[in-house]
Amino acid sequence: MKLEFTEQQQAFRAECRAWLQAKVPTDDLGSGDTREGFAKHIVWEKTLSEDRWAAVSWPESYGGRGADLVEWLIFEEEYYAAGAPPRVTQNGIFLLAPTLFEFGTEEQKERILRPMAQAEVLWAQAWSEPNAGSDLANVASTAQRVEGGWRVTGQKTWCTRGMFCDGLYGLFRTDPDSTRHRGLSYMMVFFDQPGVHLRGVERLDGDESFAEVFLEDAFVADRDVIGQVNEGWKVAMATTSSERGLSLRSPGRFMATADRLIALWKEAGRPQRLRAAITRCWMDAQAYRLYVYRTATRMMEGGSIGADSSLNKIWWSELDLRMHELALEILAQDAELEDTAHARWLKDHMFALAGPIYAGTNEIQRSIVARRVLGLPRG
Ligand SMILES: Cc1cc2nc3c(=O)[nH]c(=O)nc-3n(C[C@H](O)[C@H](O)[C@H](O)COP(=O)(O)OP(=O)(O)OC[C@H]3O[C@@H](n4cnc5c(N)ncnc54)[C@H](O)[C@@H]3O)c2cc1C
Repeated sequence: MKLEFTEQQQAFRAECRAWLQAKVPTDDLGSGDTREGFAKHIVWEKTLSEDRWAAVSWPESYGGRGADLVEWLIFEEEYYAAGAPPRVTQNGIFLLAPTLFEFGTEEQKERILRPMAQAEVLWAQAWSEPNAGSDLANVASTAQRVEGGWRVTGQKTWCTRGMFCDGLYGLFRTDPDSTRHRGLSYMMVFFDQPGVHLRGVERLDGDESFAEVFLEDAFVADRDVIGQVNEGWKVAMATTSSERGLSLRSPGRFMATADRLIALWKEAGRPQRLRAAITRCWMDAQAYRLYVYRTATRMMEGGSIGADSSLNKIWWSELDLRMHELALEILAQDAELEDTAHARWLKDHMFALAGPIYAGTNEIQRSIVARRVLGLPRG
């Protein structure tokens, strides 16, 4: 086992670091989940894209750098260490794009990927419905065959930043006689058409970007179906593992939070009663890093990521929450002061509370680990 980076990887890290040092905005862009903050984040996303840093792991022909998984992880470490803004294009670049690379046609890749990387066309993930959250196979939205495509009807919910997006991707029942995970198709629905109505849902922190999407006979062209008709479940499942295990939350994000937490602890006079808990967070962030590098190495050698991605999801979401709780404990009543250098901890804590819920709740992930990783019988 060799735990060192190659010269090429070190050079890549130096290149990322230099670019980020020169370009990361020094102004606070505000929350990317408000309309004003989102607009500022889009300017940053375009800067990333202009220099081909928006999607480093994509092939150069689509505006990426052809980086392998290890280089992508290096980029992410440098990105968060530099304090760069959260990615508002994430649900397209990290979730829809891998699906297109695996299942999309050449025409879809040519048409969809570049505008996505350039932050010209923004995508919302629309798995959830009022009665299909943990039980995703309970999707009730339907698609009816018409000339040249489909008419879709139904309600999608909890679409992150959906209010500011141009379209969604999700599952629709294309075989009316089917049940559960059979007879579903994976479709992209553009918002700019009759039959699409968006309603904002305010979050706990007051941000406005969540969308409920009401669809009534909205049109989906045949060219906007990804993968085979009625095979959408297979397409969706192929990318959920990479979402939970790799692409959604890279270790760099948690290493940066652990470093900020240690800085906060030092600034607060190094309260000894929190020393062990804070050290533990730093170690857990490092452990996650090593685990993910191992997964990346395995994947680069032809392996795949499967049910063990659920372990990652539980790990990072619970670690993130722990780190934010510790920060609030250090800050005590000062945590509630707005317009201070530390105001971010309270807001980020509210988001960390959602970590065990989004991308599949941790209860569901624990069931997956029990059955598919440990081989335990169903409870
Ligand atoms: C911040 C945030 C962002 C999100 N962004 C998106 C997005 O962009 N797109 C999108 O489609 N969705 C998004 N979601 C929705 C998210 O995926 C769902 O909330 C999640 O899948 C849970 O579904 P639900 O809310 O319907 O809860 P339910 O499925 O109704 O679950 C309620 C509770 O019951 C538990 N439970 C349910 N079934 C079982 C079971 N079989 N065994 C044990 N416990 C069970 C769950 O763990 C949970 O605690 C987001 C959610 C949050 C909080």
